[in-house]
Amino acid sequence: ATPTALLVGTGRGAQLGILIKGPEVLESTRKVDTVVLDKTGTVTTGKMALLEAVPADGTTRTELLRLAGALEDASEHPVAQAVATGATQEVGSLPAVESFESVQGLGVQGVVDGHAVVVGRESLLADWSQYLPADLVEAKAHAEGAGRTVVAVGWDGEARGILVVADQVKPTSADAVARLVGLGLTPVLLTGDNRAVAEQVGAQVGISRVIAEVLPQDKADVVAKLQAEGRVVAMVGDGVNDAPALAQADLGLAMGTGTDVAIEAADITLVRGDLTSAADAIRLSRRTLGTIR
Ligand code: ADP
Ligand code: MG
Repeated sequence: ATPTALLVGTGRGAQLGILIKGPEVLESTRKVDTVVLDKTGTVTTGKMALLEAVPADGTTRTELLRLAGALEDASEHPVAQAVATGATQEVGSLPAVESFESVQGLGVQGVVDGHAVVVGRESLLADWSQYLPADLVEAKAHAEGAGRTVVAVGWDGEARGILVVADQVKPTSADAVARLVGLGLTPVLLTGDNRAVAEQVGAQVGISRVIAEVLPQDKADVVAKLQAEGRVVAMVGDGVNDAPALAQADLGLAMGTGTDVAIEAADITLVRGDLTSAADAIRLSRRTLGTIR
């Protein structure tokens, strides 16, 4: 394509809410054959709500919500905000947090009311030798089978309960995936969340290749592995944890509703935060390059 055509293309993109970092970005979309989609905040709204709180024997629901809610209140993760908001609604004001540490992609840990509290993936609790009792393991599997995200809560050396949060698939995601497939791309769902949840979301939007339980620092490696298989990869993401993968991809697309770190790492920003714009972006660039009409 001529420089003028590329400029016209980027101008058209801006009108559609597709901000392209430079005209050369359009060229890099030419050979893209695979599109990796982050789950939380990209395919789903990322706006989670607390649905259930299930204490272990010997723990009260109020205690569970107070301690987990207080710790999560210090975290910006969508799961954490859902827990903090839900807990505040039910138990009122939350105790102060004495210390706090976020373990990216796994959860949070810290001290609340003199208790050493851990909230997050079951594997984070296992690092502290805290294991869910059988009835909670079953309740967790049940909720995850229904596509919900479950976080485990423990303190003072014992697992104390689970919290169930749910996110929703964006209304346009399934249509957007169909359009990406229509453009000849293979979609791949990538997430740090549990496999059962990821597969449930994949099924809802028409993605059969699902890569789940990936730690934030390993997302870029997943992209690199696909590239090593000879694929030319576009990555769409929103979170801080997606930034290295967006940079590794041949084409990085960030949700405009996402974090600044993701937007900086990407080649294209989708202002509307809608996956349909990813299909528009690929289509626009192919048109600009004259490969389709
Ligand atoms: P995604 O890759 O889908 O955007 P993340 O990598 O951000 O998701 O998080 C992966 C999983 O780690 C979450 O689904 C959740 O189970 C757990 N997790 C991460 N941060 C927190 C937190 N602050 N509180 C509870 N759980 C968390
Ligand atoms: Mg995300």
